[in-house]
Formats: sequence, C-alpha cells, structure tokens
Amino acid sequence: MKKIVAITTGGTIAMKLDLKTGGLVPAVSGEDLLAAVPALKNIAEVEVIEQSNVPSGHITPQMMFDLSKKIDELAKSNDVDGFVVTHGTDTLEETAYMLDLTLHTDKPVCVTGAMRGASDTSWDGPGNILAAVKTAACDDAVGQGVLVVLNDVIHAAGEVTKTHSVNTDTFQSPWWGPVGHVYFDKVVFRRKSICRQKIQPERLVPDVYLIKSVAGLDDFLFKCLIDKKVGGIVVEAFGCGNVPLGVRDGIFEACKAGIPVVLTTRVHAGRVAQVYSYKGSAGEMYPHGIILAGELTGQKARLKLMLALGLTKDTEKLRRLFA
Ligand code: ASP
Repeated sequence: MKKIVAITTGGTIAMKLDLKTGGLVPAVSGEDLLAAVPALKNIAEVEVIEQSNVPSGHITPQMMFDLSKKIDELAKSNDVDGFVVTHGTDTLEETAYMLDLTLHTDKPVCVTGAMRGASDTSWDGPGNILAAVKTAACDDAVGQGVLVVLNDVIHAAGEVTKTHSVNTDTFQSPWWGPVGHVYFDKVVFRRKSICRQKIQPERLVPDVYLIKSVAGLDDFLFKCLIDKKVGGIVVEAFGCGNVPLGVRDGIFEACKAGIPVVLTTRVHAGRVAQVYSYKGSAGEMYPHGIILAGELTGQKARLKLMLALGLTKDTEKLRRLFA
C-alpha cells in the first residue's frame, strides 16, 4: 500500500459554523479532517501533518514557498509516495502554481479543498480528500506536476482557476479542460500539461504588485509603487495586451525606473501578444521593456515574477523565463 502525506493548511474544508457570529470559522484539526474519510484506509496509508489552520486569504507567497521546501524535504524519504495538500479555495490555484514552479520532487502532489464547511449538510471535503488521495496514490500521476483535484476532476496547476464564488464545480481550466477524472474505482488521465516550467531560486522577492486595467485608469498607483521602489509590477491588460493611456504612462515610468513590468490579460483565457502597434498596445510598449506573460493569469504571473526576480533582474532573461 502506498504512503501519502496529507498536509492540512485550513480553508472552508476545515471550517464549521460559529453560532455566535453566524459564519464559518476554522474549527477542524488536520487529524479530524482525515478521520472524516474512513474509506482512505482502502486506498493508502495516510500520515497527517497540520501545517496551519487558516483561511487561504491569510496564506502568503512566503508560506507557499516554505511549503514547497517542506514537501521536497519529506519527499526525500523512500517511504513517501505522494502528497495531498488541503487548502482554502480562494488562493488554492496560487499555492498549487507556486508548488508546481518550485518543487524538485516528481512525486505526485494534489491540492484540494472544499466549497462547503464541515457543518454543512453537503460538505464536499471528504469526497475531495478521497479523490485527491486516490490521485496522489496513482502511478499515472507521477511526473504530471502539481494537480488540483476537486469535484472528482483533475486539473493542471498552471491552467486551473476558481470560476464561481460558491458552486462546488468552481475549478475549471478555461479553454484547456481537465487533465483527468477520478472514478469510484480508478483514476483516468487523458492528457498531460506540457508547458510546465521550473523556477527554483534560493528566495523569492515578495514586493511584486498586481494592477488591473479598467477603463480610464491613470498612473496614480504606478507612481506610488515607483516611489516605494517595489521589486516588480504585473499589469492585467485588456484583451491581448492593451492598456489605457494613463496605465501606459505608468508602465513607461516604471520601466524607466528599472522596475520590471510584466503584462498579462484580464481576459480569462488566451495570451498577450503584439497584435497592435497603437499607443498602449503590447506591440507599442514592448520596445520600452515590458515582459509578456503568455497565457498566465495576473495572480500566477505575480508569483512567477517573485520567483524569477530571485534569479535575475535582467529584462531579456526575464522575458525568456516568461516566454
Ligand atoms: N474563504 C475560504 C478560503 O479560501 C474559501 C474556501 O476554502 O473555499 O479559505
């Protein structure tokens, strides 16, 4: 029987209704969480490590980076075959992507969570844990990178995003689809995400900020960030990489000040590209030093820039890492 280490971090999956406040709060320990899934004993030997019990909005990039180091350390043991990380769904895709970029181990790592709390009639936690452990214990998951497993669907960390605020079928990989499915008797993979990458610096650069383009946005936020001499800026542009003129001014000022600026799109799928050459388009801004982030969402590009800046500040090298 395979051995899976389950690392619990918190999230709705470990929350219950607090009668005093009328809302969900952290309440379920790592041990209790796994004990709620008795069927696990037929799948794998599961060791539980309670890393934290916090909402995922409290998880920082540094905590994600430290979790990656911890998993790599545990993965050195020949006794351990794979990992499941339980996590709040709000930033789950960010932790999964950070792990995917930084982990050295090839052992399966499956990140899961729940949309309904443990005091809910329709708590989806136990089913998601079972599916995640089944996937982590499956031979075909080796070398697939970090996987997000919820609702019996398996997604690649780099492609998945939360698409609905409360529905249990919230995790989707827009325009790509899942990499596999979890059935009652078997885990089936139908494709492999081939665009995975490793960025493994000693430390990350945390002060990277994300600005979303909206109609008529000016350069005020850029001025603040330039003043603060931040490590980097990610801009979510419109469409395939177009921004308002005020944002263009801000981008140019930041580039002049030596702050790397990465361009992504606020659209849910597709890449930024040099389609246009008018003022404020990716094509016009590229010669001024912007870095194009391909198909990454803003939140993932931000994490990638934090890691990439741990290796280099050189624009051409950053461009290659994001190409
Ligand atoms: N707010 C929760 C969290 O991310 C949502 C969840 O876990 O589904 O911690």
